[in-house]
Amino acid sequence: MAKNERGFHEFMPQDVWKWKLIESKLEELMSLYDYQEIRLAILQDHKVLHDGITALMEDREALKVEEHVLSLSGPDDDISLLSLRPEGTISVLHHTARMIRQGENYRFYYHGPMFRKSQDLLPMEFYQLGVEFLGSESILSENEVICLGMKICRELGLSDVSLEINSFGCKDCQRPFAKALRDYLDSNKGELCTTCYKELYANPMADSTCQRNSCRTCMVSAPKITDYLCDKCKENFIRVKRVQANLAHQYKVNPTLVKNFSYYNETVFDFLVEHNGKPLVIGGGGRYDYLSEKITGKMIPAVGFYLNLDTIFEVMEERQVFSAVTRPFSVYICAQSSDLEIMMLQIATELHQHGITTVLNPDLGETDKDKDEALAKGCSLMIILRDNNIREGKLLLFNLVKQHPQYLPLNQLVDEILIARKALI
Ligand SMILES: [Zn+2]
Ligand SMILES: [Zn+2]
Repeated sequence: MAKNERGFHEFMPQDVWKWKLIESKLEELMSLYDYQEIRLAILQDHKVLHDGITALMEDREALKVEEHVLSLSGPDDDISLLSLRPEGTISVLHHTARMIRQGENYRFYYHGPMFRKSQDLLPMEFYQLGVEFLGSESILSENEVICLGMKICRELGLSDVSLEINSFGCKDCQRPFAKALRDYLDSNKGELCTTCYKELYANPMADSTCQRNSCRTCMVSAPKITDYLCDKCKENFIRVKRVQANLAHQYKVNPTLVKNFSYYNETVFDFLVEHNGKPLVIGGGGRYDYLSEKITGKMIPAVGFYLNLDTIFEVMEERQVFSAVTRPFSVYICAQSSDLEIMMLQIATELHQHGITTVLNPDLGETDKDKDEALAKGCSLMIILRDNNIREGKLLLFNLVKQHPQYLPLNQLVDEILIARKALI
């Protein structure tokens, strides 16, 4: 686990290489799709964040989100001036609005820690990848980001990743849907709890996570946004589905797919994998064309997604994806006496020139533990330098994989190691 008991991340060496592997895969794929990395500040201006959240959400929804933002105030501040970033989209839109010109589009990604308060209002840190395609209204842009998200999951070894999609329509579709839903809520008020009624009435696109049976049963027959799509949104949704089907992406239309934030329009989607026999959402996103104008005053059509990297890491770990990764070829070097120290360092330098990792035993004086130590470090070969051997111009090379010792003249060492590397990897 990469989290300590308080839920904060602490990456120890046994996990760091796994995170680096995920990050290098992300970088490789982002570069193939021509997405540029943005490194966003972790400390954010509280007011900018507050304005962003309230601009993009209904009042009740904004209040709920704000409650989970981790803000900082100094001893003399009566208001918070800074917050720890809870997400990246608001900052990315501000940066883009400052530089975008008519007809331009930008592809950005960012990853790293985000901070919020948990359900119990305790500080929480989580790792997230965010991807945003800004400046294009085309269907290609949403199909591209969906493909990228699917590709990342598959390349990380989650080959069963599937897609759930829905359309939130445009403002023209959302208006008649909202009216139909509110009428339905009114005529079924007795079946719903007060929270469901109030939340859905205030925001018909909101997520109702209520688990009460009567609420869930009642909502099954509630109007669905997909039945209210205008001709343009309907046509766009058909095109997205057609492209995803042609790309052999496993997908299903889920007309009840909702988002934590209601600012999305048209295509919305979730990425899922099977986990403990149940579907698990590992990320998702959608189109959010109206958001930028509300926050920055500039109209920027946009589509994006997030991936929850902590969840992905845990699923990869559980599926033993990392154990299939071969560790780099490395050589362990130990010596009998301090006279041989310089030789250890010389051999190491020569091996480094061939890109070979070395592990030097700092405790001079050969011991029985050396072989165990070399194996524990994942080394394939072990060089043992002994005074009497060196006087005769030779040394001992021990192949730890084949359990085979070999005495060699000094000048043949590097060649033999290169041959052994070829045979082992
Ligand atoms: Zn529409
Ligand atoms: Zn309810």
